Amino acid sequence: MAIRQIRIDGDPILRKKSKEVKKITPSIVTLLDDMKETMDLEDGVGLAAPQVGSLRRIFIVDVGEGVTEFINPEIMEKDGEQVGPEGCLSVPGEAGIVSRANYVKVKALDRDGNEFIIEAEELMARAILHEYDHLEGVLFIDKMEEIEEFDQED
Ligand code: ZN
Repeated sequence: MAIRQIRIDGDPILRKKSKEVKKITPSIVTLLDDMKETMDLEDGVGLAAPQVGSLRRIFIVDVGEGVTEFINPEIMEKDGEQVGPEGCLSVPGEAGIVSRANYVKVKALDRDGNEFIIEAEELMARAILHEYDHLEGVLFIDKMEEIEEFDQED
């Protein structure tokens, strides 16, 4: 496994649409392993492949209950609303208030190519929708309603 460099806002790759994974090759498995290692090092709750420079429809999420890997994810249902703070490893030093659905149902493939469906609420739903946006070239700052001020005195 290896740490991959996180692309920062302003890098054009973050604004491109990611492509479907046609085949789960050993390099896709390595990418998943590297993404996990990179996310853990950076203490993130999610990471999408374009954030490490790979335009593939892959993201991982870990809200404290272990890592879930999503390959070719599809949002099947969304419901409700949650309004809360959000940040992103690709937008360091910034946080803002973003409105998201409170519930999502997602279909994706795991690394063995098996399809699974997951229903998520609250933080997990927020993380999934944030990471999914990365695959479409969208960043949370595009949807931010207000900037959350950092306490500068620390
Ligand atoms: Zn992000």
